[in-house]
Amino acid sequence: MKDKIINLLAAFESGDIGKSFPLEYCLPVYHCVSDENLPHTKHIIRYKNTRQFEEDLDFLSKHFQFVNWSEFKDFVRGNFKPKKKIALLTFDDGFSDFYETVVPLLERKGIYACNFINPAFIDNQDLMFRCKASLIVDTLEKKRTLNPEIYPLLSLEELEREAVKQQVLQIQYKEREILDQLAEKLELDFRAYLQEHQPYLSTEQLKILTQKGFGISSHSWDHPLYYKLSLNDQLETTNRTFSYLKENNFLYESFAFPFTDFGVSKSFFDELFKNEDLFCSFGCAGVKLDSVAKNFQRIPMETGEGTEKILKRETAYFKMKKLINKNTIVRK
Ligand SMILES: [Zn+2]
Repeated sequence: MKDKIINLLAAFESGDIGKSFPLEYCLPVYHCVSDENLPHTKHIIRYKNTRQFEEDLDFLSKHFQFVNWSEFKDFVRGNFKPKKKIALLTFDDGFSDFYETVVPLLERKGIYACNFINPAFIDNQDLMFRCKASLIVDTLEKKRTLNPEIYPLLSLEELEREAVKQQVLQIQYKEREILDQLAEKLELDFRAYLQEHQPYLSTEQLKILTQKGFGISSHSWDHPLYYKLSLNDQLETTNRTFSYLKENNFLYESFAFPFTDFGVSKSFFDELFKNEDLFCSFGCAGVKLDSVAKNFQRIPMETGEGTEKILKRETAYFKMKKLINKNTIVRK
């Protein structure tokens, strides 16, 4: 019902999204762009192909002005007067298609982007637990018969394959060891997959990207869900990543929450911004304001739709929420 109303309102948004867009900045977030079938992401992310991604960029370029990191900072400080509303392009998770597919396209178009990475996975040392879940689902779809030893691991008695897949996709960060146990029972070798497919960026590539002027910034050490962590654990995974970025001369001025900043308390932000190097942080709740002024919300672009549709819907939703004073996330 909510979606129906929003889609209906979105249909009335004017064609000139640059004018009707309710904020002065637009912050799209992607994970990967590929024309290939990627088993480690296909069951968790509706990533776009290069044609769709290029269409997104062309649409955004028409209505917004892409900025780089220093222009974005100047804009926030009020020292940069753009001709149009600005757009800062961001990527999360440090996947290698950023280097192979995205950056060549961005260089051709002269567009900056920042990639928020998890050092635990750089150089393909390990696979993020959600990617492991995606790979397991992919294996479940391909196997003719399943090892019955997987059912107790999932506390399932049911042998329905669809139920098994759903259960695998529900596994949380704290239970992530189950994914390794399942993989073993399914004869799925994550190490071999990492070796063969190299899904993550290497240290060497991060250095080249930095030299080329792209941003490599923080997305926590290994991608936990923040609101499920204690304040101490939240700070530990965040600060460990900042030290890594600083040691390697990457962009240590920003941080993007893995998954969501939903439920993250004001006390975390108070501690976070004691780090004077930090300029701002990013969530991904769409077009929204935040009671923590230095926390900017980005727009998820991997919804299976094109930019115009996403921005119109976000705009309609923002305006609707504004009527009832609910367009700001309030942190306690
Ligand atoms: Zn992420």
